[in-house]
Amino acid sequence: MKVCKFGGTSMADSDAIEAVVKIINDDSSRRFIVVSAPGKRFRSDTKITDALYNYFATGCENFDFIKNRFSEIAEGLGLGEDVSALLDGVKDDIKRNGYKDFAASRGEYLSARLLASKLGAEFIDADALIRFDGDGNLLLDESLAIIKNRLKGVRVAVLPGFYGSMPDGRIKTFSRGGSDITGAIVARAVGASVYENWTDVDGFLAADPRIVRNPDIIECLNFGELRELAYMGAEVLHPESIYPVRHVGIPINIKNTFNPSHPGTMIVADCKVPMGKRTVTGIAGKKGFTIINIEKDMMNGEIGFGRRALQVLEEENISFEHMPSGIDTLSVVLRDEYLPKNLTHLVSRLEDALKPDKIEVHSGLSLIATVGHNMAARQGTAARLFKALGDSNINVRMIDQGSSEMNIIVGVDTFDYEKAINAIYYGFKNCPEE
Ligand code: ASP
Repeated sequence: MKVCKFGGTSMADSDAIEAVVKIINDDSSRRFIVVSAPGKRFRSDTKITDALYNYFATGCENFDFIKNRFSEIAEGLGLGEDVSALLDGVKDDIKRNGYKDFAASRGEYLSARLLASKLGAEFIDADALIRFDGDGNLLLDESLAIIKNRLKGVRVAVLPGFYGSMPDGRIKTFSRGGSDITGAIVARAVGASVYENWTDVDGFLAADPRIVRNPDIIECLNFGELRELAYMGAEVLHPESIYPVRHVGIPINIKNTFNPSHPGTMIVADCKVPMGKRTVTGIAGKKGFTIINIEKDMMNGEIGFGRRALQVLEEENISFEHMPSGIDTLSVVLRDEYLPKNLTHLVSRLEDALKPDKIEVHSGLSLIATVGHNMAARQGTAARLFKALGDSNINVRMIDQGSSEMNIIVGVDTFDYEKAINAIYYGFKNCPEE
């Protein structure tokens, strides 16, 4: 049995939804369908979720855009029933309920209602299935038990993604892109053989296509690699959507609604790409970091040095990303968005707490992660990576290798960022051993 989640572009208009219907009807094991709200049809278009946030923020004045989008979809799908009453009801409900999450949730609600009607399948609302506590934390076990029970004996059902409810009955949404999480929870609850996540690309790309031209599609990656790549900025799935399925061994298959015969990307617990086939699974990176280098003679013998450095950060409410260290040096890599505008205060606090010989701030740093589960067992990977960077005249400012040995992170000057990603990508791709 498969659980399928269709994202915003797959639900954007009636043509896309016809493709969704075909995909579902082509495989009778596709039984539980989770949908997003209609997304963009073209670049400058507005996603329904954004239109709903805007509608609510502007005092629930003009519902026309939202009403027209759904009316057009219903008409294009040839749904005989009068959706106008449904849409007017939703409009009134948003006004009456008067809170943001409720308004935002109606995109998924309407999307699921229309698809269920087109398929002749049951519509099952998510408010009673996905449960949050009073502080808005997901109650995973409780939700799993409710869903399992509710879907028992149901042949095919369509469920809205993105939201659930709190103990007082109020709707609560996940963060943006959260329908991915709903799909993962449903997949776990029903013990799906696979969680198909349908989107508008053929799969997870080995590098950002805005930087590397036509990067390869990753056929298979494991959850650890996905976590590392997603953390470093590769976008396809909501990062929280892996937790419900990861430990129970349900694979996620990223598929393209507009090219359904493409196998897409398989994300599995243990992806065994034969040795000799591929060292690097993917490359991802992020701009906007600052590194603070702290130097002090005999630092390595000074007990509590690292703790004091981290304590200053904690007291200043700054989270750190990496902390590479040498014999008498320690560096902290911080995300610019978490830093105060003026760093003088932070530096003087570090000086007071650590009495260093030298402290140096270097901003304009970008981090690049080169990720691959085969890297740990393969000699020469780091050599190849640094040769590629060296051959392109890129100065490496920082190096960090996670203990899983599945990831080498390098810090480069932001002006070298794109060049560095291309250098690494082609450094591995063009290598005769790959
Ligand atoms: N519609 C919501 C959003 O735009 C949730 C989702 O699509 O997953 O973020």
